[in-house]
Amino acid sequence: YERELLKMKDLPAITTDQKKVTLLANIEFIGEVKSVLERGGEGIGLYRTEFLYMNRFYPPTEAEHFRVYKSLAEQLSSYPSIIRTLDLGGDKFISQLDVYEELNPVLGLRAIRLCLEHIDLFKTQLRAILKASHYGKLKIMYPMISGLDELREANAVLKEVMDELRKANIPFDEEIEVGIMIEIPSAAITSDILAEEADFFSIGTNDLIQYSIAIDRVNKNVSYLYEPLHPAILRLIARVIESGHAKGILVGMCGEMASDPKYTLLLLGLGLDQYSTNSDALLKIKKIIRSVSYAEAREIAQQALTYCSASETEKFITNLMEERF
Ligand code: PEP
Ligand code: MG
Repeated sequence: YERELLKMKDLPAITTDQKKVTLLANIEFIGEVKSVLERGGEGIGLYRTEFLYMNRFYPPTEAEHFRVYKSLAEQLSSYPSIIRTLDLGGDKFISQLDVYEELNPVLGLRAIRLCLEHIDLFKTQLRAILKASHYGKLKIMYPMISGLDELREANAVLKEVMDELRKANIPFDEEIEVGIMIEIPSAAITSDILAEEADFFSIGTNDLIQYSIAIDRVNKNVSYLYEPLHPAILRLIARVIESGHAKGILVGMCGEMASDPKYTLLLLGLGLDQYSTNSDALLKIKKIIRSVSYAEAREIAQQALTYCSASETEKFITNLMEERF
């Protein structure tokens, strides 16, 4: 089966009626790039940079960041890599920063909020990404954006860093794309507004589900409620894709939902442009996409949106996948 899948490595992820989607991979270490390329990945859809900060006494220096991002840019050559700026806090543990004890860290000073509070830390990372963008196709992505002001604030810091680099005659990609994760319900609901000022969206279902259904994503006691097919989640996803497309920007997904073949047809039918998955899932997802028409997938998605509960949608999707695969 594995060998069968590998034969599709160099074929495009395209439906029988010629709708092309992009299959990217999520990574945490640059050592993973090789296996992404071996499985036909068309780039990196989510590089989780927090691992650079973990298990050490001081945050990484600009040179350390730069070395990693440059290597990523060079290894991927013309394929894009989306570098997510620091997403520490919440379930992702921080040791070097003096962060206040918080009663609800998942709702606290984390990710982009932490970066906007510690501007130097943020600028160091942005400077390194920009410098490395000269060596390949890098994109920047902010995590945990909750609304337009936060996006503007982050972009203002980015602009400052760009101005500093220009002044110092340090080359970088002037056209670098800057996108945001949609993983907070307020961002999903106002995605029409955010689409005006973001270059792309990437839906983070891991957090979007956590915050929408109010279940701690790592709490076993409530994991039965962690339901990607909850009508609220499907409506939010549909809305985000629609808002992005209305403004002409691409919408991807880098949450775990994108890696589960059970949801591939549904997401395709909702209009998702890019899947960013675990490298193990890449070829399985491609196989499914190549087996169906976009018209069919659209019907499946429309049908899925009519159900009133996660369990009804689950039954529909499970039956459908069993029949087809
Ligand atoms: C997400 O929230 O879906 C996501 C991709 O980010 P992380 O899992 O790193 O929070
Ligand atoms: Mg997240």
